[in-house]
Amino acid sequence: MKYRISLLKGDGIGPEIVDSAVRVLEAVGGKFGHEFTFTPYIIGGAAIDKYGVPLPDETVAGCLDSDSVLLGAVGGPKWDNLSGELRPEKALLGIRAALGLYTNLRPAKLYPALKGDCPLRADIVGSGFDIMIVRELIGGIYFGERGYREGKFGHEAFDTECYSEFEIDRIARVAFETARKRRGKVTSIDKANVLESSRLWRKTVHETAKEYPDVVCEDMLVDNAAMQLVRNPRQFDVVVTSNMFGDILSDEASQLTGSIGMLPSASLGDTTRGMYEPIHGSAPDIAGKGIANPIATILSAAMMLRYSFSLAKEADAIESAVDTALNDGLRTADILHEEGRALTTAEMTDEIIARL
Ligand code: NAD
Repeated sequence: MKYRISLLKGDGIGPEIVDSAVRVLEAVGGKFGHEFTFTPYIIGGAAIDKYGVPLPDETVAGCLDSDSVLLGAVGGPKWDNLSGELRPEKALLGIRAALGLYTNLRPAKLYPALKGDCPLRADIVGSGFDIMIVRELIGGIYFGERGYREGKFGHEAFDTECYSEFEIDRIARVAFETARKRRGKVTSIDKANVLESSRLWRKTVHETAKEYPDVVCEDMLVDNAAMQLVRNPRQFDVVVTSNMFGDILSDEASQLTGSIGMLPSASLGDTTRGMYEPIHGSAPDIAGKGIANPIATILSAAMMLRYSFSLAKEADAIESAVDTALNDGLRTADILHEEGRALTTAEMTDEIIARL
């Protein structure tokens, strides 16, 4: 089969880690008889430098015309003082909306080989945890009405959280379908004791749940969820929540795995075209040094094979090559805590390819 992939390398370590994932995809293609073609498009700070905008029209058009999108990361200190609309990060919201990617899947899984990286006590972690966070991605307060106005105490700013039944039902279905393929439990997270939008969220999730009697559905308030994630992460299977709550909780969950350089994500919509990216940023402090951990991006490429191209065997091959490399004690600098040599980005990529 032939697949056309758009590459959005972005800024900082983005180009280094995307190049690693491309090498792994090429190796998988060679092994399983698929042809992947790659077309790079500019985004983020690099696009601001060249065109004055973080998300050029050609980038959006190129991504819309491809089978899937692999993104590195955007942003860096060079562009930190630009106004909101011109910041590199604005390109992320723009490309997600343009591609209609309303679901963000973020697995937070503790690798047995990296148990020592988890900041939680061994008795809390037990045999490990494997959580899939399903975050709504193009609604809620990040996309709601916002502005400045004069109020009782002078100049004030506001942002608005707004969700429709349609948007809630759509993301709830993704969560229930995902749970069916896993351990059959969905935890829906809201703030229904305070927010009207959360009360609609809870009511709608309950309605949708009636169509999935085989899946256990429970509600949890977001403040309690933040606590439960560190008290007993093993209780969670699939978590579904709004854009902002998901943003915050998925960062908390990812930190429980101890290593930001390890975690992939998938953003999906109604078509098979998705956007796949590591959860970390552009890591300007290590950019250009060739020492970034490429695993989050390589695992994002595996998610692309699984969710966009239905190539489960090929995705499994990448994931188990990563597992084996870690079990063999191979480490990049960010996950090296004991004696031993830190592998460079290129060396870790070679080792993973050798284990495919
Ligand atoms: P960051 O994730 O870039 O870095 C945090 C720390 O983790 C740094 O010490 C970095 O060196 C380390 N790190 C991150 N990825 C690593 C990897 N693959 N291998 C080894 N170490 C890694 O977060 P930050 O420093 O808060 O943000 C830097 C820039 O990235 C900012 O401009 C921010 O806005 C942007 N950002 C972009 C995205 C994205 O593109 N999706 C996400 C988050 C932050």
